[in-house]
Amino acid sequence: MASLADAGMKFTTLPHPAPTSDEARAAVLADPGFGTNFSDHMVTIEWTEERGWHDAVIGPRQPIALDPAAAVLHYAQEIFEGLKAYVQTDGSVALFRPEANAARFNRSAERLAMPELPESAFVEAIEQLVRADRQWIPSGEGASLYIRPFMIATEAFLGVRPARQYKFIVIASPAGNYFKSGAPAVSIWVSDYTRAAPGGTGAAKCGGNYAASLVPQGEAIARGHDQVVFLDAAEHRWIEELGGMNLYFVFDDGTLLTPELTGTILPGITRDSLLTLAREEGLTVKEGRYGIDQWRADAESGRLVETFACGTAAVVTPVGKVSGRDGEFSIGSGGPGQLTQRLKDRLVAIQRGEAQDRHGWIR
Ligand code: PMP
Repeated sequence: MASLADAGMKFTTLPHPAPTSDEARAAVLADPGFGTNFSDHMVTIEWTEERGWHDAVIGPRQPIALDPAAAVLHYAQEIFEGLKAYVQTDGSVALFRPEANAARFNRSAERLAMPELPESAFVEAIEQLVRADRQWIPSGEGASLYIRPFMIATEAFLGVRPARQYKFIVIASPAGNYFKSGAPAVSIWVSDYTRAAPGGTGAAKCGGNYAASLVPQGEAIARGHDQVVFLDAAEHRWIEELGGMNLYFVFDDGTLLTPELTGTILPGITRDSLLTLAREEGLTVKEGRYGIDQWRADAESGRLVETFACGTAAVVTPVGKVSGRDGEFSIGSGGPGQLTQRLKDRLVAIQRGEAQDRHGWIR
């Protein structure tokens, strides 16, 4: 199949007829919020069975036309990614592990019966967008340009089979600190709902997973919690992950534990990076199963000293309180524990170009 990579990845650049004024952009960058403001440009690449990937365009961000029968609107053939561009201490701009997002995107594509995009095209598309929207990257603590690559099935047909036509799009959104006051401990609700079952799509980053998480997340909010934690589908016992973050448990002997990737958990890139950093610090990190009853018992006995959630959006966030049908328990002091803070600082220093990047994570 002829791919963009084979064709040398020629992107057509369309000029923006009316870019955002400097004043309007400055107002957004002064208080970017999260996910509500967007940069001026977008990338689109088309895929058809006959031509493979073609027509790569970087142009003005604008609405896309879809036939009402487009497969994505009916059978939810959609996958996405999330990563950030950071202004470095030397003023340059860097992406954090975009190849890892490209690889996960293709694993999601495979699960959703969608075409894979060459990793080089995925990364190149993001670089093109970041260059075009360089002025949209906020600087300052916790600020970044959040990048959202995604793919949708655009073929017009009704019937359950893989579509024969897709569109890959990349948009970007300036983002401030996820939590305005740094990282307060979040409180989480243990959901009775299931996020993912063995053999399902839990390890894929597809929109449907998130649609199904809205009611459980709403329930957590209604009960006064910030986030929802999901347990495994079969026994409703093993801790899996939050709605949009992976979990780490820290014990009093200095060891760490994170739920193993069983196929029902999203393999977080932050999770993976922290595995490496923690091991470099000489810490013992295990990937394994951890039960909800054990979590409570360990928190109450003091064997468990910290718990934190991790993901691209909020980086590393301490978990302070856990509630469920069986009552409530607190973890440690309720604030960021020592190890949580140390790992967060190390990761952020690499992402910001303040610490040496010994793993080739910065691009
Ligand atoms: N779990 C879920 C369900 C997520 O949506 C995310 C965010 N992509 C994560 C974990 C964390 O993944 P990452 O570190 O790659 O952002």
